[in-house]
Amino acid sequence: MLEQVSAFVREHVQPSETVLDAGGEAGQAELARVRALAKSAGLWALPLPRDLGGGGLGLTEYFAWAEQEGSSDHGPAALGSACLLDVRMFRRFARPAVLELLKPLVAGEISGSYAMTEPGVAGSDPAAARTTAVRTSGGWLLNGRKWFTTGAGNASYVTVLASGSLFVTTDFRVVREIPVLGAAGQFEIALEDAFVPDDHLLGEGGDGLAIAGTRLALGRTLRCLRWIGMAERAFGLMCLRADERQVRGSALADRQLVQQHVFESLLAIRSARALTRQAAALVAAEQDARTEIGLAKVAAARTLHQVTDAAIQVFGAEGLAPGTLPMLARIGRAARILDGADEMHVSDTARRVLRTRAN
Ligand SMILES: Cc1cc2nc3c(=O)[nH]c(=O)nc-3n(C[C@H](O)[C@H](O)[C@H](O)COP(=O)(O)OP(=O)(O)OC[C@H]3O[C@@H](n4cnc5c(N)ncnc54)[C@H](O)[C@@H]3O)c2cc1C
Repeated sequence: MLEQVSAFVREHVQPSETVLDAGGEAGQAELARVRALAKSAGLWALPLPRDLGGGGLGLTEYFAWAEQEGSSDHGPAALGSACLLDVRMFRRFARPAVLELLKPLVAGEISGSYAMTEPGVAGSDPAAARTTAVRTSGGWLLNGRKWFTTGAGNASYVTVLASGSLFVTTDFRVVREIPVLGAAGQFEIALEDAFVPDDHLLGEGGDGLAIAGTRLALGRTLRCLRWIGMAERAFGLMCLRADERQVRGSALADRQLVQQHVFESLLAIRSARALTRQAAALVAAEQDARTEIGLAKVAAARTLHQVTDAAIQVFGAEGLAPGTLPMLARIGRAARILDGADEMHVSDTARRVLRTRAN
């Protein structure tokens, strides 16, 4: 399975990254083409429940090859596993009206987005979010703005944090796309008296942040695995280049300063992988993994940033020309901010460890 996923991402997803990154109609058409290939190769939606049309693999099995799938930012969408977080969240907290979304979601016929972060408010402090949900007959009226809502431009529904609760709504307006270091995929959306029926509330109301917490544990673990997959890819390119490029009569690989880049990158990848596997084992066992996830998130984000930077350095100017390394470097830069800025994880993890030791 690992070999098959690895080969599929290498042969069918990575070559399409430029088109997929640009988004728009061409990006959507390319995604549909790659998805059709994944379906015919029997690699579609492997970690999704079998009764919804997925492959039924458990988290532990999925964690074993999420790195390979995630070696391209588009791997999870291309292989139909990007909806895993929504599916698990809805199965646990949604009512029947929302559960109807699951089959078309797993089939790739619709997609959803997840909107917590807002303009003008620190995303690191979700409790401060200003979007409101006010009771009305038969449901709620939502008002506010969200941004950096991944995939909202093509989404059929958005899960929105408002007044401390999570709602699933189809009533949102895309305000604009926000390119992140040139790449498509992020959007600002507006909720303007958006009516959300009662049965589109997740959980019991007021428990939105707790539900978000359960989603984030798995989400961050998967993100770490994917970042390590991308770092490994940049590392491979760097090593190839070091072997091939001759400077003043010898290969770059023979230069100690290049060897240092190779060593530090390998050290970072192996350390981040070990930390992430520790976190993943706890998440799969549904145990408290907050400290391990905090360590893994920061290590994996730093690793992708560090390794892509080293690879670009070893490539010289060519490493900055449009292609794989700038794309991976962009993701590495964003990694230190998204899924909770690194600083937040540093400070939350340290506080938790200090508290535990004091008790
Ligand atoms: C590519 C991308 C995709 C995203 N996708 C989504 C999505 O789909 N849905 C969604 O809701 N959000 C999404 N986000 C938003 C992301 O979750 C937020 O950017 C993140 O939570 C940080 O929030 P913020 O940007 O508002 O920064 P802020 O919270 O304002 O933080 C800014 C800076 O303040 C510092 N800081 C913050 N907290 C601390 C602390 N505790 N101690 C010390 N310093 C601190 C850090 O330097 C931090 O970078 C995405 C972001 C990016 C870049």
